[in-house]
Amino acid sequence: MKRRLQRLYWLGVGITLMMAIIAMFILTVMRINDTRETLYDMLETATAWTQETGVSLQQQADEIAEAAPPIRVTFLMDHGLVLADSQQDAMTMQSHADRAEVVRAMQDGVGESLRLSDTQNNFVLYVARKIAPNLILRLSYPMAEIFRLLTAYGIGITVLFLVLFLIQRWVLAGFSSAMLRQMEDVRCLLQGETERKKAVFPELQPEINNIAYLAERLNGDLEEVNRTMRLRSDFVANASHEIRSPLTSIMGFAEMLDEGLADTPEEQELCIKTIRSECQRMLDVVNDILQLSRAERQKDVEKQLVQVDSVSQEVLKALSPQAAQKQITLQQTGSMTLHAVEKDVWEILYNLVDNAIRYGRQGGQVLVSMADRCLTVEDDGVGIDKKHLPRIFEQFYRVDESRDASVRGTGLGLSIVRALTERNGGSIHVESEVGQGSRMIIRFGGEGGAHEA
Ligand code: ADP
Repeated sequence: MKRRLQRLYWLGVGITLMMAIIAMFILTVMRINDTRETLYDMLETATAWTQETGVSLQQQADEIAEAAPPIRVTFLMDHGLVLADSQQDAMTMQSHADRAEVVRAMQDGVGESLRLSDTQNNFVLYVARKIAPNLILRLSYPMAEIFRLLTAYGIGITVLFLVLFLIQRWVLAGFSSAMLRQMEDVRCLLQGETERKKAVFPELQPEINNIAYLAERLNGDLEEVNRTMRLRSDFVANASHEIRSPLTSIMGFAEMLDEGLADTPEEQELCIKTIRSECQRMLDVVNDILQLSRAERQKDVEKQLVQVDSVSQEVLKALSPQAAQKQITLQQTGSMTLHAVEKDVWEILYNLVDNAIRYGRQGGQVLVSMADRCLTVEDDGVGIDKKHLPRIFEQFYRVDESRDASVRGTGLGLSIVRALTERNGGSIHVESEVGQGSRMIIRFGGEGGAHEA
């Protein structure tokens, strides 16, 4: 970019200098023309005057020159002999027969030339006229003034060039390095550094603000994409692990049977039972994965009025055998009508009550209550340590493998509950004390989501 700016700059400088030189040329030509016109006027007047007066040629030459300094006046014969001159003794002067203006005057009556004078060592403009059959009057004007003018122009152009050169060195170099700094700031903004928002030039501030805003959004989106990618790959790793463990176990017991290592009917029955329960575990994982992916994928689902207390009754009925096994009492209070997906409400309640029973105390209680847009499932079981609370809704997260080992589970139940709750416009949070029990609270409401009807 710096090179390009410099090229543009020097192009501008070149054009400016060219125009200055052309202006200088035009002014010089105009000055010469003015001088020539003046000389011709003088020649006219002097010719008329010489024809009237009776004084000598030398006297005439002196008087004309005196009347119009710095003009020099010369009278000469048509073959070049100088008869009188206002500045020099005519006797000492050589023949002027070869002078261009004299030759032309002898041929055409009038002649002129601009040349370096032999005697004055300067450029001189000459005009000559034949004023009598053998007599030529010549006026000359030294162009020293014009050369002074040219010198002044030359100095002016040189100074202009120097100024432009300095501008290039300081201003342009400063400008291009400021632009480079600005580009570096923009690059940093795009990479997420939010502090470099000040524009180098105030005029650029609105643009920089726009870029900063877009960069912020872009980086936010990028972070979200990265987070999603990370979650995806964690999910795949966890899912593979959850499926591989039962598969390995199934393979082991199948090989035992195949190679006849389980001799007794009891051993064989144990192998088959284990294979079946591992298959069930695998099926649970696959079902949960499918359910979770459906809940996360299908955000726009058709909702209807759901009588939550009726759904809760069905769920409690479906889970009463499991509750009975641990002598847990299932209870329900309040009522609620929601604009939601009935199947989702059923899944949410089923998962929460199922957890409450599985992690509940032998002979304990599970209570489902509905009030003020809140659906709560609480138990008096093992509870959850505070440090685990922020993570229990993560996929495949189990509080403590050794604690939970005796309780079947995939670590996906609460992820499914959260996805379904959010799909229906609700939010879930947990309150728990170790050894005291847990309370899962779902609050419904908000724009476009489920709400109390
Ligand atoms: P899981 O299938 O293992 O139960 P969840 O996602 O349903 O998976 O639960 C995640 C973890 O949270 C469980 O492993 C368990 O440790 C803990 N948890 C969930 N509900 C309760 C509860 N009611 N009481 C105690 N711990 C619970």
